[in-house]
Order: sequence, then C-alpha cells, then structure tokens
Amino acid sequence: MAHHFAIRQTTKLKIDRSNSPVNSMLRRSDNLTPNERRRAMRAVKGRGTAPERRVASILRALGIRYRAQGDLPGKPDFVLPQLRAALFVQGCFWHGHGCRSKTPVTNRLYWTRKLMRNRRRDRRVRRALNGRGWTVLVLWECRIATREDAMRAVARALGRAARSGR
Ligand SMILES: [Zn+2]
Repeated sequence: MAHHFAIRQTTKLKIDRSNSPVNSMLRRSDNLTPNERRRAMRAVKGRGTAPERRVASILRALGIRYRAQGDLPGKPDFVLPQLRAALFVQGCFWHGHGCRSKTPVTNRLYWTRKLMRNRRRDRRVRRALNGRGWTVLVLWECRIATREDAMRAVARALGRAARSGR
C-alpha cells in the first residue's frame, strides 16, 4: 500500500496535498475507517469529482474541519462536526435541481421514476439527519461551477448552519 502511494505521489496529482486532511489521514492510516480509506484513496488518485475537490479546498482555506462519515444517513460528502452539519455536493440532474428540471425525452417514464426516487431518498436522508440533530446543507453543482461561485455558496451554507443554532 505504502509503495503504491509513493508511486502515485510522484506521478499524477494535481491537487495540493501538502497539508491536506487527506495527507494526515494517510499518515495515521492504521486507524482509518473503510470509508475514510476509500476517500483517501480517491483523493490520492486524483478522483473525487472536481466540484467536491473545489469545496474541500475552500473548507480548508476557511479553516473548517471536515471529515467523511459513512455511518451518517446518506453518506454526506462532508461532515462538519463543529457546526453539526452534513454537507452534500449534489448533481443537478440526479437530484432534481430546478435548473435542470427537464427529464430526458427518451425513456421518459423510466427517468421520471428514477429521478423521483432520488428526490424521495434525499428527503428521507434529510429527515433522518435532522432527526439526529444534524443540519443538512446542499451545494448544487451549478452553483459551484467556479471557485468564486463556490466560495459564495459555501459561505452561504455555513451561515445557514451557524444560524440553525447548534
Ligand atoms: Zn442546478
């Protein structure tokens, strides 16, 4: 495993890992949960979606601690323990954002059902998290297309979490 990382580190990687939480996660790799390990691996491989990496970088810049937490409902992309907030980066199509409300023309019934199921699941996840005292924050892909947009969206989301008063 270590060997594998070493090779990766010298080759790919566009993301800055010099002082990233991923790096510290790798350093204490003995105590990683499976979910943390998956996330770390993904980051090292330079995968993880661009929007997610953008948000991660902004959270780090703002000094907001975050972690991945697979045991929370819906597997939030970022868990912010200080704010007791669960942050989801959501694709507009899959999660039915109004900006992309058109269902594809072919197989319309299939897509309508599928996207409806996704939205129902999102609602269920939100209720479950709220029920456990977590504030749910959603960052829509279309709102975080650039770093500037993402900065604003993240700031708004954090403000919302702070106001929710925990
Ligand atoms: Zn959208």
